[in-house]
Amino acid sequence: MIKALQLRINLHQERQPDGLLKKAAHDLNVKTSEITGIKILRKSIDARKRNIIFNYKVEVFINEPMPETSDYHFDYKDVSNAKPVHIIGFGPAGMYAALRCIELGFKPIVLERGKNVQDRRRDLKAINQDHFVNEDSNYCFGEGGAGTYSDGKLYTRSLKRGDVRRIFENLVYHGATDQILVDAHPHIGTNKLPKVVQNIRENIIKFGGEVHFESRVSDFTIKNNKIVAIQLLDGKELDVEKVILATGHSARDIFYLLNDKEIKLEAKSFAMGVRVEHPQDIIDGIQYHCKGEPRDELLPAASYSLVEQVNHRGVYSFCMCPGGFIVPAATANGEVVVNGMSPSKRNNKFANSGIVTEINADKDLYKYEHFGPLKALEYQKDLERLAFTAGGRRQSAPAQRLTDFVEGKLSSSLNETSYQPGLKSAPLHSLLPKIIGGSLRKGFKAFGQKMKGYYTEEANIIGVESRTSSPVNIPRNESLEHPEITNLFPCGEGGGYAGGIISAAMDGERCAEAATANF
Ligand code: FAD
Repeated sequence: MIKALQLRINLHQERQPDGLLKKAAHDLNVKTSEITGIKILRKSIDARKRNIIFNYKVEVFINEPMPETSDYHFDYKDVSNAKPVHIIGFGPAGMYAALRCIELGFKPIVLERGKNVQDRRRDLKAINQDHFVNEDSNYCFGEGGAGTYSDGKLYTRSLKRGDVRRIFENLVYHGATDQILVDAHPHIGTNKLPKVVQNIRENIIKFGGEVHFESRVSDFTIKNNKIVAIQLLDGKELDVEKVILATGHSARDIFYLLNDKEIKLEAKSFAMGVRVEHPQDIIDGIQYHCKGEPRDELLPAASYSLVEQVNHRGVYSFCMCPGGFIVPAATANGEVVVNGMSPSKRNNKFANSGIVTEINADKDLYKYEHFGPLKALEYQKDLERLAFTAGGRRQSAPAQRLTDFVEGKLSSSLNETSYQPGLKSAPLHSLLPKIIGGSLRKGFKAFGQKMKGYYTEEANIIGVESRTSSPVNIPRNESLEHPEITNLFPCGEGGGYAGGIISAAMDGERCAEAATANF
């Protein structure tokens, strides 16, 4: 017999190795010896009250063996001699487009401007220590895309649960912990992601696909509304039939190239702001009601999600990284961009989060109208340059104590930070455009009301968090092709079709299906 049920247990029961078993036996009125297995379907923590509760959704097997099951089977075929699909970019969208091509019996040929995960590490070190940004290999560009040296949070607002589950199971197939299948807020961690990404690449090659690193696409030859050839920066040229363009939100040269060729693009609204960094103890104290004491060892570093309407503009937390680091995510020299990541254990002493506000491409960018579809991109670029100048013309970032930012004062000193290139005190309250600075200042005050202790001089704000999503939309029709270029499939976050690892991966699969239909 199999019984599905919800189990709620407290910290004390969670600590017992057989706590869940005993609770299941109690709730089902059976003996523990009759239970042959408990399959955990979902696990979440409810910390709203002092008595912290662990919620489990489970299937309990009574007097029958628990089968090893997976909802999906990945049927990879040898595609060495199959028809080719060219995929530009090897982030989550490109990786999952390639894997899906193989399942469908087509040969993916991936062109990636950056390096493999191992070699990429040296370039990350150079950004952090020497303030030098390799424009092909950085926190956004390289094997696995922006998703590799990221937080690896796998949350998505997508309602297509089946598709989400399929991607999760595929990540487990490629070496991610199966804990992601049950956690309400699944997370892999920056220390574990590179191996998963490497396994995906090795699998693609094993089944006959190709992955070419240090292969930046620099031009296309278009004839009769089709891309017939792709040029690489090193001079190579490749004939192509189907092209999936998965170059991410930071591939500005691709946006410029498409625009120069008068291929239709649209400006897209996006969000911008700063990163805020608190000591993790403060966030734990607020969320777990344990102010002044360390959190219980069974509890993960606490996170938060905040949103506030300020003068009809949303201000919200974005990509919160408990126990994490702030990283320099610029893709060119002369700009400063911050983002966040965390290791699988989330055991760093800081909690950081983007705090951003919506920039409406139709209403807010009138001074940039002359840039046409690239107006949001140019606005984003200007702010990143401003951060570079205010940060001391290196990868050190402009920063302010949170309370000084809100009160409009330059900080005479800053708090300790996880941001390796260092911080420089700067008057972000006056440097940021009013629609951002003004909204964030009010937003932070409101957040302090919602989370007592959040609004504190012990937190820094660090600028700028500007790469939250693509500032450009590359249009596509119902067959997922560009309306003017029939064999071009704009894909993932760069096209404006995803906002995170999972949604980009799902879009990659969709584009592979579209590109190989009737091929
Ligand atoms: P990308 O990942 O941006 O990949 C695009 C790829 O295309 C890159 O590898 C790039 O090198 C390549 N490319 C660009 N131009 C060219 C060219 N001309 N020729 C060849 N190749 C090219 N999302 C989450 O869901 N959870 C998180 O915890 C999270 N944390 C993040 C932390 C950081 C530090 C960063 C930077 C991002 C984070 N994100 C997170 C966002 C997430 O990584 C992206 O949403 C996701 O990677 C987008 O996938 P993509 O495949 O569409 O594009």
